Amino acid sequence: MKKTTFLKRKLREASFISRALLSSRHPVLAHLIPMRRCNLACGYCNEYDRTSKPVDLEIIKARLDKLADLGTSIVTISGGEPMMHPELDQIIQHIRHRGMIAGLISNGYYFTPERIKRLNKAGLEYLQISIDNVEPDEVSRKSLRVLDKKLRHLSEHADFHVNINSVIGGGIKNPDDALTVARRAVELGFSTTVGVIHDGDGTLKPLSPKEKDIFQQVKKMGNKDHARLNWFQDSIAEGKAYNWRCRAGARYLYICEDGLVHWCSQQRGYPGIPLEQYTMDDFDREYKTEKWCAPTCTLQCVHQVGILDNWRDPQKTPTQVAQEQKDGKGVGEMIGAD
Ligand code: SF4
Ligand code: SF4
Repeated sequence: MKKTTFLKRKLREASFISRALLSSRHPVLAHLIPMRRCNLACGYCNEYDRTSKPVDLEIIKARLDKLADLGTSIVTISGGEPMMHPELDQIIQHIRHRGMIAGLISNGYYFTPERIKRLNKAGLEYLQISIDNVEPDEVSRKSLRVLDKKLRHLSEHADFHVNINSVIGGGIKNPDDALTVARRAVELGFSTTVGVIHDGDGTLKPLSPKEKDIFQQVKKMGNKDHARLNWFQDSIAEGKAYNWRCRAGARYLYICEDGLVHWCSQQRGYPGIPLEQYTMDDFDREYKTEKWCAPTCTLQCVHQVGILDNWRDPQKTPTQVAQEQKDGKGVGEMIGAD
């Protein structure tokens, strides 16, 4: 990556963080789904289908315009597999054209040198690839052996930041794989993070001593900023609940392929309001509503966004919020802000 590109990106990042700390009245991060379809079928995934069509470019542009009007700082395109969308480059260009940071989450299968150069040109700034294991198995084909060639292409041609996420827990067969994946990521000049996941039945169980040891080793190799922002993972690794204020529906938005706003990928259905009708009243309600699923949540990016406001504006239960909105109290009064 060119040094000037790196410095420009860091400066933009710093200015967006300052803005987010100065004001809590705009979304920081939105995940936008331009298609639900995926070329893979990971055993644990509830976020893909095999048949859906890409969302029309003009519809996506209108959604991006609305996100920009709400003051959103970062848009990360996710899926399904967003690289299958035929107009991905135009989507990225439009994010940049509207002054937002452009990110992408992909399974990595489509990164040829030519495709990477087109993403450079479109203005992509961040890419995250999650790699689940070294050898493909019946649960996941997001595997280092299959993807290594793509990673080499990225190392050689990408002008954007690349982060490789590995996973631990949740009955992953070989915990050592996370270490192998992280080592390879560092070797190729990428940053690396590790995700702690729940058991298959969603229950919170402590990692085994071996898994804990590997988790700590991978964390040490990774991006220090991420490690600092992911304290919650230490509680999850111990099988303990973590108390924090999830600002999903406000500072973090998940926009599905139908254009509805949801708390996140794992809590689809609420609030389920079309983005074009989303107002600052909706934003305020979700900002101050306590989420029942927060103590066991493992979604790293929503936790990171939450840190920006964890020190301010305590949250209330959905019933209290609904009653106070009915009583017509002002937002400041309701959240007990100074
Ligand atoms: S690659 Fe991603 S979206 Fe596709 S099935 Fe696997 S986890 Fe789900
Ligand atoms: S706590 Fe986690 S699972 Fe619950 S809404 Fe927030 S991000 Fe989603």
